[in-house]
Amino acid sequence: MKLFDRLDAIPSPSPEEAQILDSVRALARNEIAPRAEHYDRSSEFPWDNVRAINALGLNAIFVPESYGGAGLNYAVYLACVREISKACASTGIIWATNFHAMKPLVDFGSEEQKRRLLPRVAAGALAALAITEPSAGSDATHMTTRFTPDGDKIVVSGGKTFITSGDVADLILVFGKWAGIADDRRAISALILEKGAPGLKVLRKEDKMGHRASSTAALAFEHCPVPRANLLGEPGAGLQLLLTALNKSRPSVAAHALGIARAAFEDAVLYINERRQSGRRIIEFQGIQFMLADLATELALCEAWLWHVAHLIDSGSDDFAVEASMLKMRASDLAMRVTTEAVQLYGGYGYCKDYRVERLMRDAKITQIWEGTNQIHRQLIGRSFIDKR
Ligand SMILES: Cc1cc2nc3c(=O)[nH]c(=O)nc-3n(C[C@H](O)[C@H](O)[C@H](O)COP(=O)(O)OP(=O)(O)OC[C@H]3O[C@@H](n4cnc5c(N)ncnc54)[C@H](O)[C@@H]3O)c2cc1C
Repeated sequence: MKLFDRLDAIPSPSPEEAQILDSVRALARNEIAPRAEHYDRSSEFPWDNVRAINALGLNAIFVPESYGGAGLNYAVYLACVREISKACASTGIIWATNFHAMKPLVDFGSEEQKRRLLPRVAAGALAALAITEPSAGSDATHMTTRFTPDGDKIVVSGGKTFITSGDVADLILVFGKWAGIADDRRAISALILEKGAPGLKVLRKEDKMGHRASSTAALAFEHCPVPRANLLGEPGAGLQLLLTALNKSRPSVAAHALGIARAAFEDAVLYINERRQSGRRIIEFQGIQFMLADLATELALCEAWLWHVAHLIDSGSDDFAVEASMLKMRASDLAMRVTTEAVQLYGGYGYCKDYRVERLMRDAKITQIWEGTNQIHRQLIGRSFIDKR
């Protein structure tokens, strides 16, 4: 595995960042990984993992120092997502969702909003990002949630579906349309809804194939009054904010998918070094070596691309949407492929719950669907080559 150890060293972290990464690796190995099977079977929300993550103060990584955070670079954040997701994909996505939902507040919030809300985020608040609706999935511009201004309040009406941590979040970044703006795209706006807001209801929690410990909730907003001070940007500024936010969350879901892929690859390599058939270890069969070579090469290239995109973001580029789409698409397709092949390499045992590759394969599937399905990413990448005449 030396190859992967060398690749992991690519972000060249500072001593402080290296120390955080070591602590996260230890937490993932000693606490989060051992509890993952229990959480998968019970579908309980992994509160003790959340508490352990908060004890290390990990939300502070993505909150600037002036608002109570540590303001570390994006590569370190991605490395932490990958480590936690390798140990427990559900916990990985719960933590990453805090970033997905709150990074727009860091990037677009007013000074007053940041001073009021970001210290809570840095201290460990759970956050949710609410875009999808029953009839607006891949095409979010058809969302129907409505924001109606009413004095110093905005009344939110409508509902969202498939919201990660929607039932437990302290802060929810909600996208909806501003009443009175006719154009679908220009009406989209964003605000922060706080836990306990009147009219906010959890309608249902989904019973899922994988990520069973991460809750996925359908929410209703029944004339929910939100202080106008919680509106991010101007009315109608939401679509730009949404697209910018997604560009930064896509590398994050790629890091999460790569954590799942790495776990499956490492487990499979250990297993086929031990398991024997026809008087030989499984890894000694050439057909198996070819399979391993293809998977290892894909994994190495994809991880290298992860650090490339991280570098673009850390160096202040705002033109990395296509690179982020390529990364999300390839990392999630690879997670599905590696986990499926890992089950294959375990033979019949891989199909049983005694080994974690069974869970990893179920956990991998959603990575091809969320944060833009891979069909949508192929469209975004392909379309970027059209000459704008
Ligand atoms: C476990 C889980 C967690 C999630 N977490 C969140 C969350 O925290 N916040 C949030 O807002 N959403 C979340 N989602 C929603 C997720 O992002 C959507 O499911 C996803 O965007 C797809 O939307 P859809 O399910 O409505 O599928 P649809 O858009 O109906 O797509 C159905 C199929 O049609 C294909 N398709 C659609 N349009 C096109 C096209 N133009 N060209 C080619 N093919 C197309 C799709 O690729 C897909 O295969 C979550 C979903 C799940 C299952």
